[in-house]
Amino acid sequence: MVDIFRKIAFGYSTRCNIKCGHCLAADDGPKNEKMDLIRAKAIVSEMVFARVKGISFTAGEPLLFLNDIIELLGVCKKNGIYSRVVTNGFWAKTPQRADEIVSELKAAGLSQLRISFSRWHQKHVDRENIVSAAQSSQKLGLDYFISFITDFSKQDEPHEQYLRENRLRFFPEPVIYFGRAGDFNRPRVFTDYNANRCDMNPYLSPQLDMFTCCDAGARFDKTGFLYLGNLNDYSVESLFQKYETNRLYHAVKTVGLSPMASSLGIPASEIVTYRKCELCEKLFNSKENLAGLQQSADSTPSPWTR
Ligand code: SF4
Ligand code: SF4
Repeated sequence: MVDIFRKIAFGYSTRCNIKCGHCLAADDGPKNEKMDLIRAKAIVSEMVFARVKGISFTAGEPLLFLNDIIELLGVCKKNGIYSRVVTNGFWAKTPQRADEIVSELKAAGLSQLRISFSRWHQKHVDRENIVSAAQSSQKLGLDYFISFITDFSKQDEPHEQYLRENRLRFFPEPVIYFGRAGDFNRPRVFTDYNANRCDMNPYLSPQLDMFTCCDAGARFDKTGFLYLGNLNDYSVESLFQKYETNRLYHAVKTVGLSPMASSLGIPASEIVTYRKCELCEKLFNSKENLAGLQQSADSTPSPWTR
């Protein structure tokens, strides 16, 4: 049996204490939903049996529920699951407070702290919090990285410079123009013609709906392309199997969106004007396009291989 590395973004709650202007989760279903802790622990245990090897606690702000997350991290640690918490860093108000929380998370078994940083986040959370959270992680030996969300405009350069000056470990990540960012003006993209492959990281919502994508989730509402099913109806194992055996998902991961768009007749000059997730939406949130791509996925040889 091929050992597949199963991982999932675990949306314990959609509640957040701030309101970022670019928030992707803003329109995704009911606000302030939260899993029952006992059910969440049972799901993590079920994930152990389903050979899930990595869990990223995300959605709203997970550390609003610090004690619950500590318990869930304990289940991960006990079962050798790599764990990550994605946070806006609101709790790192002083270096001392940052040390306390980071110590607790580390003792609970957290593998990596992922701290979000952007010009939108930092309207609500002092950027010194980010430095304190990162420095506490460095000092206490907890792996961390800063997710620097940017639209690649000049106005983000001072923010990037701030991270560099503080010698923090960060990676730029593009704003995704869904949710509140859906109405943003988009700078034009100038890219090469690339495959536009996507890892399609699965996401579990507090309502126990599982999706193939943690960034768009319920957003492809015309086709439900990204939806796998609800854990009240299906097991974790069966939904992972569905995810792993679907030919179109496989093609998104391996062939990429651009060859698929080209096979639908979209000109290359137009394909290069799309950002990845927008191209994904164009292809898969249209019943007509989805039907065409499904037919291609089922045919042999595949029209996407060279
Ligand atoms: S911290 Fe994250 S979940 Fe909260 S508003 Fe900002 S982007 Fe959304
Ligand atoms: S390309 Fe599609 S599947 Fe991948 S993150 Fe974007 S919307 Fe989700």
